[in-house]
Amino acid sequence: MKVAPEILSLVPYSPGKPISETKREYGLSDVVKLASNECPIGPSEKILAAMTKALQEINRYPDGSAYDLKRAMSKYLKVAPEKLVFGNGSNELIDLLIKVYCRPGDAILISEYSFIAYKISAQASSVEVVEIPAKAEMRFDLKAMAEFLRVSDKVRLVFLPNPNNPTGVYFSQAEFKEFMEVAADKDVLVVLDEAYREFVRAESYPDGVAQMNTYDNVVVLRTMSKVFGLAGLRVGVLIAPESVTDLIHRVRNPFNVNSVAQAAVTAALSDSDHLKRVQVITWTGVEQIESYLKRQGLRFLPTQANFVLFDAGYEADLVFKELLKKGVILRPVSNYGLPTYLRWSVGLHEENEKAMKALTEVLSFLRN
Ligand code: PMP
Repeated sequence: MKVAPEILSLVPYSPGKPISETKREYGLSDVVKLASNECPIGPSEKILAAMTKALQEINRYPDGSAYDLKRAMSKYLKVAPEKLVFGNGSNELIDLLIKVYCRPGDAILISEYSFIAYKISAQASSVEVVEIPAKAEMRFDLKAMAEFLRVSDKVRLVFLPNPNNPTGVYFSQAEFKEFMEVAADKDVLVVLDEAYREFVRAESYPDGVAQMNTYDNVVVLRTMSKVFGLAGLRVGVLIAPESVTDLIHRVRNPFNVNSVAQAAVTAALSDSDHLKRVQVITWTGVEQIESYLKRQGLRFLPTQANFVLFDAGYEADLVFKELLKKGVILRPVSNYGLPTYLRWSVGLHEENEKAMKALTEVLSFLRN
């Protein structure tokens, strides 16, 4: 059968290596995974109780309108329920945005080093990807991106992850405002992907919901996979004007968020203790990792997220494999055109320690 060349040449998303696979392959009993920007602590009793309750009605289909979840999220975000659409992870919402707004031959606009899912989703829909080179320190060149919008009419969606994955870097309110001076008048939708929003400490960070309230063509993505620690349940949310949410509702699967996930997220949104705990673990862990990398003389990018991107100075795939033998999973990012860089997700204090010890040993082995 004939298959589109874009599909045949598609390189699938490569997730972090699972703990169970690493244990099996290397015959290890103790493995630390710091490779998928996950939350290092499991769900609270409150969340487990909500899930157990939901399991008792698992013979029923989920509430397709996610009524309770929508009300809880509306309260948490201070946004009207009509402006929310949930997805099977924010990844599904990226797909749906492309499905609704782009036709084959249209383009999405991204920066170099942006989260790779936008590219994969676009290619799967025969949508062109325009990638603008980043500036020093892998920061987005929003001026150059605005300039592209000024001269081209083929872009339908602009994806701006803030902070970005895998770099952890962010752009400021002033940079975004200047970008919107061009983008606000264009027939494009600007998607602020705020997967790591709750980890941000920079004061000049432009809050997505406030931007959405300011500009008609700005929408926001958030996820429950990071600070809320529910990655396995797959829940993301799109915050957008009703004219946008209405279209996404038309194309999404009616039961795209399962009932256990809906119950867990509804409970998680009022669990501010858990959220604060994860923030503190993350911020302390970032300091622990950054000061280690400084001591080792390894270059890293300043992060606003729950991971640190650093230059190992050797082929990252090799460093990755040597670390696996010692029971540590980090993420090499050669698929981002960074062959000597690895991304280190913040874990618990002792997990970070284990990774530090292993990395010190691997680098000294490679040096000799
Ligand atoms: N956006 C960014 C920037 C991410 O890093 C991720 C997860 N790696 C996602 C979106 C997707 O997250 P999820 O599908 O788990 O909501």
